[in-house]
Amino acid sequence: MTASASQLSGLAPPTPLPCERCGHSPPTARVAVGGKRVCILCADQLARDARPAPAIWPTLLVFATFLLSPLAPPVLAAINWARLGDRRRVRDALGLVVLGAICAVGQLVTEVTSTNPNDLDQQLPFVVVTVGLAVFATMPLRRRYMEHLAQGGKRAGVGLALIITIGMNICVSVPVVGYLLASGKVTLEQLEKKSSFLDGPPASDSSQPAVSAPPPTAGSAT
Ligand SMILES: [Zn+2]
Repeated sequence: MTASASQLSGLAPPTPLPCERCGHSPPTARVAVGGKRVCILCADQLARDARPAPAIWPTLLVFATFLLSPLAPPVLAAINWARLGDRRRVRDALGLVVLGAICAVGQLVTEVTSTNPNDLDQQLPFVVVTVGLAVFATMPLRRRYMEHLAQGGKRAGVGLALIITIGMNICVSVPVVGYLLASGKVTLEQLEKKSSFLDGPPASDSSQPAVSAPPPTAGSAT
């Protein structure tokens, strides 16, 4: 004799206990949230409510990071938008990141390979695009940031913004300078000259006339 289904389920199926938040009996197991056993939907809602308001970087800070890296304003803007949950703006900002990367590489290459460090003409187009990019990346953020503050939103700290910006600077400069060195487009000597130019006038330059002339003798008349 085969056991019928009713015999097998002699134990009555456990009656689903109601959610302690909405009162409905959930078809799935309840989960414990803050000492209450609630349904999945309520747990989801509670988690959303408990999430603190995101902290975002001020527009001016995002803009100013262009001084360290052309990539930084669009990247920081994208992170801000992601924290605000605006996916369309994140996509827009990420599109500008591509332009920022091109600009960062171009600026660095012209800076490293230019023969005359005083000549800013070659770098000027990149500087213009970099500033334009920073304006373009931060413009839509401006109003949203004011709204964010008005709604009691927090401002994110400067520290992380700087770490990200400097990190991006390194991520661009190390491979680019490495490539220029490896391909022979620039030599270590040239790089050293440039860095010494930034530090100040070179201490000893062999091209300068040597001070071999004897000092004029002052007491020749006597
Ligand atoms: Zn519920």
